[in-house]
Amino acid sequence: MTRVIDLRSDTVTQPTQGMRDAMMAAPLGDDTLGDEPSVQALERRVADLLGKEAALFVPSGTMANLLAIRSQTEPGDEILCHVDSHIYQYEGGAYAAVAGCSIRFVPGHRGIFSPDDALALIRHRDHHFPRTRLVSIENTMNRGGGAVWPIESLRAICAFADDHGLCVHMDGARIWNAAVALDVPPAMLAEYADTVSCCFSKGLGCPAGSAICGPRETIERARRFRKMFGGSMRQSGILAGGALYALDHHYQRLSEDHVNAHNLAHRLSSIDGINCDISSVETNMVYFTVDPRLGDAPSLCQSLERCGVRMLAESKDRVRAVCHLGVSREDIEHAADSIARTIESLGVGDPHC
Ligand SMILES: *Cc1c(COP(=O)(O)O)cnc(C)c1O
Repeated sequence: MTRVIDLRSDTVTQPTQGMRDAMMAAPLGDDTLGDEPSVQALERRVADLLGKEAALFVPSGTMANLLAIRSQTEPGDEILCHVDSHIYQYEGGAYAAVAGCSIRFVPGHRGIFSPDDALALIRHRDHHFPRTRLVSIENTMNRGGGAVWPIESLRAICAFADDHGLCVHMDGARIWNAAVALDVPPAMLAEYADTVSCCFSKGLGCPAGSAICGPRETIERARRFRKMFGGSMRQSGILAGGALYALDHHYQRLSEDHVNAHNLAHRLSSIDGINCDISSVETNMVYFTVDPRLGDAPSLCQSLERCGVRMLAESKDRVRAVCHLGVSREDIEHAADSIARTIESLGVGDPHC
């Protein structure tokens, strides 16, 4: 049996033994009743890490983003964000269905945009129009290939939002990767947003859990909506214990994932029929396109799967591979070899791994 190298997402990580031990050892209470020591410790820790007054632990990144939107808007308000944003593409339309907001798309390269891109999209104050209320940015930008917002761009958008009375939400599911890539404390990025969501269940390797951080008043509003949306938990310290462990033990190592992603891109770029731009790999994600003469992306992924390498066909011709703590440097070499062999053998029977 060949070992499966699962590069579909950084969400597939299994908790390490150290993390499982920390989860089992975490002191527990009842968070809905307000006395969960591990959840409270995590919320304090994350608020400090991101330089915000308060934080709220929630089951998923989707809920963190929804709470940020719902807490800072009213139904009928409008959000500005890039069309590739997770909040628009992958959250079931919650911004509309649950928060009652509409969205206007800001153009931008790899999901990163400037005040000039957004300026004309702000609605005039007039009772005919929805009220522009929130700018949402994603850092790192998932569908932008894991792109990192340059600090200068964050500063510009933040100043722009201030000038126009808009709130800024940062979908920081992978803010840890952004901070590690820039070699700055995450608070230096979070500074340019009112609210920031972050995930423990991605590169940090936890089984579940996210947080939303921001001003105390906004977080208290979010706490009420979390209850309303069914996300208020009880002995959730068992999850928070894993997240505290991850911040201590899995944070610094994120740079290894970035090196692995870079190495994978380097190998892929030399394979005939694969188009992979190494310079676009800034963090732990590698996106590449498949030449149509090799078939489409879903069928290539199926062939790879038979060799024990799992990647995600993101569209008809685009594939995503994400590095994480479950794949080693050797795994990356092995995955690249498998892809090269699979492509070589396409059209000449089964791929031999
Ligand atoms: C994964 C992710 C989320 C949250 O996803 P959940 O699966 O709900 O935890 C939010 N934003 C981005 C950019 C993501 O990649």
